[in-house]
Amino acid sequence: EAEIPESHPRYESLLTRHRIEHGVDIGITSRQGLIAQGRGEAYDYLLGERTLDSADAAARAAAAHFLLADHPVVSVNGNVAALVPGEVVELAEATGADIEVNLFNRTDERMERIAAHLREHGATEVKGLTADGRIPGLDHARAKVDADGIGSADVVLVPLEDGDRAEALAAMGKTEIVVDLNPLSRSARAAAVPVVDNIIRAVPNITRHARELADAAPAELRDIVDAFDAEAALADAERAIREGGEAE
Ligand code: ATP
Ligand code: MG
Repeated sequence: EAEIPESHPRYESLLTRHRIEHGVDIGITSRQGLIAQGRGEAYDYLLGERTLDSADAAARAAAAHFLLADHPVVSVNGNVAALVPGEVVELAEATGADIEVNLFNRTDERMERIAAHLREHGATEVKGLTADGRIPGLDHARAKVDADGIGSADVVLVPLEDGDRAEALAAMGKTEIVVDLNPLSRSARAAAVPVVDNIIRAVPNITRHARELADAAPAELRDIVDAFDAEAALADAERAIREGGEAE
């Protein structure tokens, strides 16, 4: 990572790419994760590699949902673990959320490695290894969750989630927050709160909002949740891709 000069105009993008490559090298990110990263980079480039105002509003609504939740869970896959392990731990601490490892291509070895990686970054408890719960409507391998984790969560943050799983979790009645740079993705469309932003920026931003709202009354948090319009946020991201710049 050290050889990229910080003055490089696409420094953050190159750093992100190196983190994913490293994730593959140490066995926490799958090879498919490289392809997902490439897709994300393309959208980030089109969005101007910045956080749109509409994405910031989504991050604030996500924080309000987390603070109102009885049992919030942050789901972590191989890309998330490679890109923002410490930031996920900080978000969980700021909101009292559980952390659960959840893989599209699940292997016990990769599950263990990601859990260990998160513990190295300060996580005290990492769920996902028990796999005694199921998401209805998905085939066996894709359906596995912890009964006392995602299985019993009321609010779930699923960054970079596969479309089928995102739809199945929403169908279970969970309030789903998705981080996905593609506003057309089924995952983003299934979410109560789609955060169309790079995970590198989105997770710390949700944490910042959660800290700012830590002492807010539940009524204020509910107002933030109610004022958020998912359709409008997705439309604004599409508009930014087509036209560039912020909305008038
Ligand atoms: P589906 O329509 O089923 O959701 P998909 O094309 O989204 O299909 P995935 O492989 O799940 O299939 O795609 C990964 C998603 O993650 C892409 O939409 C991509 O834009 C997004 N993504 C990849 N890297 C990042 C990142 N660093 N931050 C935010 N989103 C990302
Ligand atoms: Mg998707």
